[in-house]
Amino acid sequence: MKRIMVIGAGFAGLWSALGAARKLDELGVPAREAEVVAINGTPYHSIRVRNYEQPLDATLVPLADVLEPAGVRSIQGIARSIDLPNRRVEIEADAQCQWLTYDRLILAAGSQLARPPIAGLSEFASDVDTYAGATRLHDHLLQLARMPGPAERLSVVVVGAGLTGIELAAEMPARLRSLFGEKARDGIRVVLADRSARIGQAMGGAQPVIEAALLAQGVELRPGVSLEAVTRDGVQLTGGEHIAANTVAWCGGMRASPLTAQLPVTTDSFGRVPVDAFLRVESVPGVFAAGDCARILIDGERPSIMSCQHARPMGRFAGHNAVSDLFGVDMLPLRIDWYTTILDLGPWGAVYTEGWERRLASQGAPAKATKRTINCERIYPPRTKQRDDMLQAAAPVIQTPPYTVRESD
Ligand SMILES: Cc1cc2nc3c(=O)[nH]c(=O)nc-3n(C[C@H](O)[C@H](O)[C@H](O)COP(=O)(O)OP(=O)(O)OC[C@H]3O[C@@H](n4cnc5c(N)ncnc54)[C@H](O)[C@@H]3O)c2cc1C
Repeated sequence: MKRIMVIGAGFAGLWSALGAARKLDELGVPAREAEVVAINGTPYHSIRVRNYEQPLDATLVPLADVLEPAGVRSIQGIARSIDLPNRRVEIEADAQCQWLTYDRLILAAGSQLARPPIAGLSEFASDVDTYAGATRLHDHLLQLARMPGPAERLSVVVVGAGLTGIELAAEMPARLRSLFGEKARDGIRVVLADRSARIGQAMGGAQPVIEAALLAQGVELRPGVSLEAVTRDGVQLTGGEHIAANTVAWCGGMRASPLTAQLPVTTDSFGRVPVDAFLRVESVPGVFAAGDCARILIDGERPSIMSCQHARPMGRFAGHNAVSDLFGVDMLPLRIDWYTTILDLGPWGAVYTEGWERRLASQGAPAKATKRTINCERIYPPRTKQRDDMLQAAAPVIQTPPYTVRESD
């Protein structure tokens, strides 16, 4: 029995496993001769990109609904170590560790929020990095809403104005109004702080739109400052400002899974392992990587972005190629020649950019409609529980960019 093992069942891992199952099916390999096994910490595929939203019920897709119909075995457990010479992985499940061998391994363990050693950060800051983190943040707000208290209870400071921080801050004033009631409207305060000179600085043509949308929704902007400390009742910023707040959300960027450090390669500044156009980890035989764990030159020149946009195709190609490599048939190189960014800006709408230089393509309600289609449909696996649908969706093809309504339409 040959085994293709996938670590992780996020955007890269789920699609790696389905891509591998699809290729086995295409080659007509019987189930008794090869299996695909996916190891994931939870029994769910999390639509992680929606963690700034509420409610999150629809963001957990049971793996059993997707992997089982495709004939993929899933194990709920944590991969602890990778033994390259013996081609096996140590998995902790139900408080026990066991080794499982592989013929081809796909590392798709994703990323985690970076947590630098800032005083009070781990004790007092919330996050939306995971479903569990986002749920804790919302429960904390619900609890504050139930009790009377000082003005700080109506204040939220979001630190880090990358895409996640901007989406969370833009959504927060309306969320606080719905939790605390319209009467509390005047007391509600949302601050977005970042060390860059302008909020949304890396967003090219979308930058002024982001700033205007945040200000229109009452979000206070603090560019050019860093976080010095978090306490139970607020944050201390460089430059001397202290902001009183009972809620601090840290959105300070992502780091690849620590499992990448177990491979004998030089990782990049995000901790990602280098992969070639076929998603093979450079100079590590039998091992592929996809998603936030891996750095590929996505258009032949530019490195991939840690994003769902790149993780899904990387997964489909990694699964396809791992099986192709195992059975000695041609692999397919991954190359994507388009890049877009679409950022939710709360009730105000959204902003959509095209190209690596981020040219403004649309904004407001039309862009929001595109964002809803992406978040609620495009990035989900089929919900039919049908084998054929799963395998078809896992084909190693490049999707066209999401449709957007333009000003000129
Ligand atoms: C709030 C938020 C908004 C975002 N918005 C966007 C967006 O608009 N567009 C976009 O393109 N990207 C966005 N991203 C980034 C995107 O979510 C990630 O780039 C994407 O999830 C990467 O997919 P992945 O499969 O590599 O990793 P993940 O989605 O992190 O999946 C990794 C999986 O592996 C599991 N795992 C990890 N370690 C182990 C282990 N040792 N053993 C077993 N299982 C393990 C995890 O439980 C998880 O299920 C956003 C992220 C956040 C947090």
